[in-house]
Amino acid sequence: MRLFLLLGGNLGNRVALLQQAQAQLAQAVGPVVQASGLYETAAWGVTEQPPYLNQVLEMHTTLPPLEILDRTQAIEQVLGRVRLERWGARPIDIDLLYYGDLVCQTDRLTLPHPLLHHRRFALVPLGQIAPDFVHPVLNKTNTQLLAECADEGAVNTFAP
Ligand code: AMP
Repeated sequence: MRLFLLLGGNLGNRVALLQQAQAQLAQAVGPVVQASGLYETAAWGVTEQPPYLNQVLEMHTTLPPLEILDRTQAIEQVLGRVRLERWGARPIDIDLLYYGDLVCQTDRLTLPHPLLHHRRFALVPLGQIAPDFVHPVLNKTNTQLLAECADEGAVNTFAP
């Protein structure tokens, strides 16, 4: 199954954490098919937050969606543990964006991710690696969703 994940973090060594998350995901979930570039995204809402670094991964997986959620949450915890004690915040967040064209809504998991089409920081990297993938509920490609997205948050390519 084609799985798209959004990774993001704004604490600690953001590049190293994204690399560690990708390595652990490859072991726990399946091979990485494509990785977007890194994008720096101004935090919205709480303005004193440092900017986020975001990346989308396309993976190939044979696991069912809730098993993937268990594993991504375990990785979030492992990578967050060190910083949790010092900062009280999570340095890495992993969202499931698409699981093929599966549509589901349960207490723990909504697919496609319910906010993905409202967020430029998800659509820009997604549009880079999967411009023609069609959102199974909205029936629009990622490129179309990005063109229609009202979010004005800055999403800049990141050069480490
Ligand atoms: P957050 O703290 O913002 O990362 O939200 C995590 C919560 O969202 C978890 O309790 C998940 O069960 C729930 N959730 C629902 N749909 C999704 C999804 N598509 N990807 C990741 N988490 C999800």
